[in-house]
Amino acid sequence: MIPKSNEKGMVSNMSATMQNYIDEAEKALLHTYNRYQVVFEKGDGVYLYDMDGKRYLDFVSGIAVFALGYNNKEYSDALKEQIDKIIHTSNFYYNLPAIEAAKKLKKISGMDRVFFTNSGAEAVEGAIKTARKYAYLKDGRTDHEIIAMNHSFHGRTMGALSVTGNPHYREAFEPMIGNIKFADLNDFNSVLAQVTDKTCAILFETVQGEGGIYPATEEFMRKVRELCDERDILMILDEIQCGMGRTGEMFAWQRYGIKPDVMTTAKALGCGVPVGAFLMTEKVGSHSLTAGDHGTTYGGNPLACAAICKVIELFEKQNILDNVREVGEYLAKRLEELAAEFDCVETRRGAGLLQGLVFDRPVGGIITRAMEKGLVLINAGTSIIRFVPSLVITKENVDDMIAILRESVREEIEGEQK
Ligand SMILES: *Cc1c(COP(=O)(O)O)cnc(C)c1O
Repeated sequence: MIPKSNEKGMVSNMSATMQNYIDEAEKALLHTYNRYQVVFEKGDGVYLYDMDGKRYLDFVSGIAVFALGYNNKEYSDALKEQIDKIIHTSNFYYNLPAIEAAKKLKKISGMDRVFFTNSGAEAVEGAIKTARKYAYLKDGRTDHEIIAMNHSFHGRTMGALSVTGNPHYREAFEPMIGNIKFADLNDFNSVLAQVTDKTCAILFETVQGEGGIYPATEEFMRKVRELCDERDILMILDEIQCGMGRTGEMFAWQRYGIKPDVMTTAKALGCGVPVGAFLMTEKVGSHSLTAGDHGTTYGGNPLACAAICKVIELFEKQNILDNVREVGEYLAKRLEELAAEFDCVETRRGAGLLQGLVFDRPVGGIITRAMEKGLVLINAGTSIIRFVPSLVITKENVDDMIAILRESVREEIEGEQK
C-alpha cells in the first residue's frame, strides 16, 4: 500500500538508536508493508514525535483514525477510568459502555441495530453475512450475488477482499468468496447490467478512499437507492474511512438525502482503540442475523465501547463537524491553488477533510521529501496524495502543510530535471 521510499529516502540525521530499532523491526515483523524510515514515539494534537524528538505535522492521523488529535486528555482519562473498572466481559452478558455506545451510534446514524466488531474488515464481513441471510430468508437460495465497485477497498480478510475492486490485492488469494460482481462507481448503467434475480446487495464506499478519493454522485446514490427499493436489494454503504465526521456530516451518506439499509463504520469510531461496527435498519435487523448466526469475542467490549462513547460525546462538545466544514473548504481551496501552480498536479477531489491531490507521476518521492521536512502525508494508489488529517486541524495547520508540500513538489521536479 505504501510505496517504498526511494533508496536515498532515509530520514536524514536519524540517530543510531532509531536506526537500530528499524533494523530489529525488519528482522522480526512480517514484510507486509514498505515502511517509512521513522519510529514514532508519541503524539500531541496534530503533531507526531519520533524517537529522536523530531516533530512532524501529521496529515494522516493513522489513516483517518485519530479524529480528535493525539493525546486528547478527556479521551485518555475515559479509557483509564474504564480500564480500572473492567476491560472485557463477553457478549453473553450486557455491559454498560456497549449499551451506551449503541444508543449513541443509533442517534448519530439514524440506523436501528448495531453489531460491534474489532475492525473495519470485520464490519464488512458482517454486512456481507447480513445481506446473504436477508435474501436467504426470502427465497431459501444459497447462490445470492453481491455487486461491488471497481477501485473499491473494503479490507483484507477473505470476504472483504472478495468485494474489493482491485485485482492486484486479490489475485494470489483466489478463489474469493463466490458470486461477487463488479460495476463502476457513478456509472448506474454498469450496476444495472450486473443485477439479476440473485442480487442481494449493492455495496460501495460513499467516498472511495484507497481507490483514489472518488465521492459518489447524488444521481448515482439516488438511482441505486431506487433500484434497491424496487427489487428489495440491500444498499450497503462502507463509511469506514469517509464516515465519522470526515466529510462534514457524521456519515457521508447523510448529505445525499437517502439512507442505506446497512452501513459499516470503524477507523475514527474509536479514535485509536480497535473497533468497528455494522448497523442496519429495523427492517433488515428483524429479518437477517439471529442468535447463533454471528459473534465475536472482543467486539463491543467495555474498553472499546467506552472509547466510542467518549468519541461521540467529544464530537458534539468540540463542534467537530463545524470545524470540518470550515477547514475542509479551506484545504480544498489551498489544494486547488497548488493544482493551478504546478503542471504535474492534475486535479484535486474529495469532500471535507478527505481530499486527494492527483499527480501525473508517482508521489512516493514527494512524500519522502515532506517527511524529511517534518510533514507526514500518505498516498492513495501510486499517483495521489491523500489528506486525512485529524478533524481538529486548523487553517494555520493547513497553511503550514501547504508550504512544506509546495517545497517538496518543487524539489521533486528539480531533482528530476537534473
Ligand atoms: C480501512 C478500510 C477498511 C478496512 O478497515 P480495517 O480496520 O483496516 O480492517 C474497509 N473499508 C474502507 C473504506 C477502509 O478505508
